[in-house]
Amino acid sequence: MTPLLSARGVTVRYGSLAALDGVDLRVDHGQRHALIGPNGAGKTTLLDVLGGATRADGGRVHLAGRDVTRLGPAARARRGIGRIHQRPATWSSLTATENVVVAALPHAVRPGRWRPGAKRAAAERTAGVMLERLGLRDVGGVPAGRLAHGQRRQLEIAMALAGRPRLLLLDEPAAGLSAVEVGGLVEFLRNLPRAVAVLLVEHRLDLVYALCDRVTVLRDGRTVATGTPAEIRASGPVRQAWAEGV
Ligand code: ATP
Repeated sequence: MTPLLSARGVTVRYGSLAALDGVDLRVDHGQRHALIGPNGAGKTTLLDVLGGATRADGGRVHLAGRDVTRLGPAARARRGIGRIHQRPATWSSLTATENVVVAALPHAVRPGRWRPGAKRAAAERTAGVMLERLGLRDVGGVPAGRLAHGQRRQLEIAMALAGRPRLLLLDEPAAGLSAVEVGGLVEFLRNLPRAVAVLLVEHRLDLVYALCDRVTVLRDGRTVATGTPAEIRASGPVRQAWAEGV
């Protein structure tokens, strides 16, 4: 079966440093796939390449069989790639609701009979549903800049989901969250419909093992292992990477 995402030979160079050096990655439909590895392994760079924010120096990226290598972030978002950043990327002066409406607008389905404002109304409905699902209904009117870190993280997830992604790229979503918030995040991701696949960059192995059915290990810009969590736990390269501090 055609994978949802296929990256082959992805290379990114910064001067003489190869941040990624011929990386292959396959994410299947509905899969929960973790990307782990030591600091500087290239995890964020790979998410940037997959999301279209960074142009690779070599290699190809396919989404559901279509070559998206040359597309930018907006075009990839329209084709179903949603992205959560290490630091939540929200518009501080807009309210939580407005942030999600803006994110939903390009994807809002236009109803059969056109009327003025129909698209905006659809985006507002989507925003209401997403804020409710992420536990943000009560802060819908609060500017994003005044939300607590954990709430902004949830808001960014709501914004990404408003774009109806087929693949969600999550960069360390648990970073900076309280234990209670991490519990809520795990619960939320567990309940996410399988129509959405997840590629998760995460240092916390307990979360990786709780959420993911596939794990890829990067080190020095290369893939050193890929397999089920049980296989990865038992594999030599991973133990070595861990010994050096992930
Ligand atoms: P961490 O777990 O610390 O977030 P990572 O696995 O996500 O690390 P990257 O942030 O992708 O690693 O970085 C991979 C390598 O590329 C590192 O050596 C980093 O210093 C380098 N790098 C990343 N972005 C740039 C840039 N814009 N300019 C120069 N070097 C960069």
